[in-house]
Amino acid sequence: MLKKTLKQIHEMVGGLNNITDFESIIAAGVSIDSRHIEPNNLFIPLRGEQVDGHQFVEKAISQGAAASFWQKDAGEPPAGLPCIMVENTEKALQDLAKAYRKQLNCKVIGITGSNGKTTTKDMVAALLQTMYRVHKTSGNFNNHLGLPLTILGMDEDTEVAVLEMGMSSRGEIEFLSKLAEPDLAIITNIGESHLLDLGSREEIANAKLEIVAGLKAGGTLIYHGDEPLLRDRIERDLTNLHVVSFGREDKNDLYPISITQTDNSTSFEINGDFREPYTIPVLGVHNVQNALAAMLVAKLLRVNDTHIRNGFESVRLTNMRMELVAGAKGQKIINDAYNASPTSMKAAIELVETLEGFQSKYLVLGDMLELGNQEKEFHVNIGKIIQPDKINAVFTYGSLGHFIAEGARKSFPVDRVFSYENKTALITDLKERTSLNDLILVKASRGMKLEEIVQALQN
Ligand code: ATP
Ligand code: MG
Repeated sequence: MLKKTLKQIHEMVGGLNNITDFESIIAAGVSIDSRHIEPNNLFIPLRGEQVDGHQFVEKAISQGAAASFWQKDAGEPPAGLPCIMVENTEKALQDLAKAYRKQLNCKVIGITGSNGKTTTKDMVAALLQTMYRVHKTSGNFNNHLGLPLTILGMDEDTEVAVLEMGMSSRGEIEFLSKLAEPDLAIITNIGESHLLDLGSREEIANAKLEIVAGLKAGGTLIYHGDEPLLRDRIERDLTNLHVVSFGREDKNDLYPISITQTDNSTSFEINGDFREPYTIPVLGVHNVQNALAAMLVAKLLRVNDTHIRNGFESVRLTNMRMELVAGAKGQKIINDAYNASPTSMKAAIELVETLEGFQSKYLVLGDMLELGNQEKEFHVNIGKIIQPDKINAVFTYGSLGHFIAEGARKSFPVDRVFSYENKTALITDLKERTSLNDLILVKASRGMKLEEIVQALQN
């Protein structure tokens, strides 16, 4: 983590006050939450809509913080306490991270895309950890606060930082990329998330492509080459950039020539030299895409093939992403309740359709949120792609989920499609209907909290 004297920090953020009395104090690590202060942290009070962090500065210092930032318009800082005055504390947090990143002698991998950022981040880190000291974004800390906090959490001897970059509108990825200055940037895919904010898939692609704005000179962009919105723009407008692509199509630099799925892992062979398949201990063809992106990073950083294989074996995904858990009656549940968009919904359904060896297979699908004015169509279309010869029954939850049921009824008999507005009723029916060796996929947007269904099936 960041470890600097207040004098150094004052310089890094352009502090406004005189701190001569305190300049030799050393701060280690940064916290924006006074309830989680570690010894010698630098406390950064942020001004939220509800609370102003400045009211906790004294408490933070009494609980062990070495010092605090103080926003100029918050009045006089508490007398006698080591405070660095700044124009704006949030910007000072970002400036500090930016300055720290410039001092660090490490490679930075920046990852954006509509789906698969966290997964790809975990895979890239797993592969690189076999050879380097790696620091990665913890959980989903991918925004204008999470990213600087992640950077400030890095030790000075970090060799590679693997950073997730999320967004909901134009300009955000450019900002994060310029802050982190990646050596390698990944765009995992273009989906439909944030269609509501951005208006079109073209605009979503443009927003993700902002990641090149901060790419270091001589850096490389790794992108999902099956996506024409990326490929066309890159080939047209970014001709000077070093790029490599992955995808399922053979026009990509890296693509799978075969994919085999078991009920707890996925194997794939790739084009090129190595004919021996690679195995990842996670499910889903879309995770092969994430794995290919991670392999391209590993190859660019000269991780050898044995290390790549070992790295894949050690991959553990952050919770609720295609997580396989057991139900109380011996059902197998794929908990993918972390989030959903049409792209990831399709990928998950296709996975369940290809898996074999189960008594029966069920889908429990809820609302995909934030899709804009075509949301109804998106849900109906999901229902339509579900194959009645591969899936025994479809359970939907929520008012948009209802349209998935409507779509499914086009090809399913009515007694195999059930639509619910009440979670408890859904759980009761699902418990009654499923048993040993059944496979159940549970998936919806985060706001639907479908993990409650998974928990109920486990108890
Ligand atoms: P967020 O925007 O919430 O941070 P994320 O981009 O980090 O999401 P993950 O958390 O890795 O994405 O995955 C979320 C879900 O997206 C997974 O559970 C899976 O269903 C789906 N998914 C992951 N990778 C892909 C991919 N390459 N293509 C399509 N869907 C994917
Ligand atoms: Mg994420």
